[in-house]
Amino acid sequence: MTEQSYISERKKMIEENLKAVRNDIAESAIKSGRDVSDVHLMAVTKTVEPQFINHALSLGATLIGENKVQEYLSKKSELSVPFEAHLIGHLQTNKVRQIVGEVDVIQSVDSVKIAKEIGKQSEKIGITSDILLEVNIGGDENKFGFTPEEITEKVYEISEIQGIRIQGLMTVPPFDVEIEKTRIFFSNMRQLFIDISDKKIHNTNMEILSMGMSGDFRQAIAEGSTLVRVGTAIFGSRYYNR
Ligand SMILES: *Cc1c(COP(=O)(O)O)cnc(C)c1O
Repeated sequence: MTEQSYISERKKMIEENLKAVRNDIAESAIKSGRDVSDVHLMAVTKTVEPQFINHALSLGATLIGENKVQEYLSKKSELSVPFEAHLIGHLQTNKVRQIVGEVDVIQSVDSVKIAKEIGKQSEKIGITSDILLEVNIGGDENKFGFTPEEITEKVYEISEIQGIRIQGLMTVPPFDVEIEKTRIFFSNMRQLFIDISDKKIHNTNMEILSMGMSGDFRQAIAEGSTLVRVGTAIFGSRYYNR
């Protein structure tokens, strides 16, 4: 395949995929009696080249997600504005200074230490950073995030930190389980989200419940997700990137 035909084929595929994902989101929302406008679509653009991200943006995608600080910063200037960007990957303390102020939300806050560092760097540049707290809902040893048992107490603790504002929760459930089990994890997340929201904790908005990826966003929407993070189902398998 020539470079030119690869590019146009892939753009066509992105357009079709995006349409299909949007339809599925709408269908899932309606089926569970939810308002379609309450479910936001994030196009996960990790490993995707700027020309294809820009294509998705030109088709009306407004929110992108990246999991690596360096990769995002290296692509950012090539992206067509305006768009909203969230960091969704584990963040190391030494990278915080580089990402604060560069994204709209840091979704992957998984320790009090990282929350403090985000607060500190945000205050330094005079901003308040919106964050989500990541919950390891499946108790998966290989995953980052607060445990369901500790999350409420951590929300109280982190809400006291200056320079940040908690806007909700995010999760990545264990991969290797049946879809019905995944649904239980999502349902547990929804319950946590509601319980924490009911406590009306100072400096904390339970606005965003970020859950659901290419393989399970339908189940996540049925369980109350307000933001689905979809990569593969839009851009194709990351293994085929050139
Ligand atoms: C890669 C990634 C996604 C998207 O996964 P797909 O299965 O490709 O849709 C969503 N959330 C996080 C945190 C990711 O790292």
